[in-house]
Amino acid sequence: MRDEKSQFGPIPDMRFWRPATSRNQYLELTSNGIDGNEKADKAAREAVNNPLTEIRTYSSLIDIHRNVNTYCTNLWESEWRRTPNNKLREIKNTTEYWPKPHTSNRKDEVVINRLRIGHSKMSHGHLMRREEPAMCLTCGEPLTVKHLLIHCRIHIDTRKSLKLPDNLFEALSPIHDNTNKIIIFLKQIDMYNLI
Ligand SMILES: [Zn+2]
Repeated sequence: MRDEKSQFGPIPDMRFWRPATSRNQYLELTSNGIDGNEKADKAAREAVNNPLTEIRTYSSLIDIHRNVNTYCTNLWESEWRRTPNNKLREIKNTTEYWPKPHTSNRKDEVVINRLRIGHSKMSHGHLMRREEPAMCLTCGEPLTVKHLLIHCRIHIDTRKSLKLPDNLFEALSPIHDNTNKIIIFLKQIDMYNLI
């Protein structure tokens, strides 16, 4: 394993590794000159002799699985935070698991999920119809999920009466109370079926 330093530790290179199920099989594989195993042996020797190699001891396959899992999760989290113009980060600033919306209504669940990804009939239906993007006639802004839930002037009173959060992060978070408010809001402004 070559020591490829990264912020999450060395990257395991398992491309050439193949387990020998017995000593005899190992000898057979190496003596037959199987290319992959030779490369694995060479890489292992280099790693052992490299003073920069970080020594990690694993007691079981579960440990290895957990370590790879942690590595991938950290990498994903880092990419999520570093990616510029990640519109989803405005709603969810971490890759941590969010529970499903607290509703037994399938349609409500679909609506909340569409709002979270920012894709709805209202904002993206024009693509299917091959038309220009829909605009808010009151504000002159593109009719996006964010505009509807946060900025649109025509719905200020409704948002105030329901005490809707003024940011997407809270409005679309998995907090049960906020989910309910969003559904009620959409129904009151007759947009529920356009999401
Ligand atoms: Zn508007």
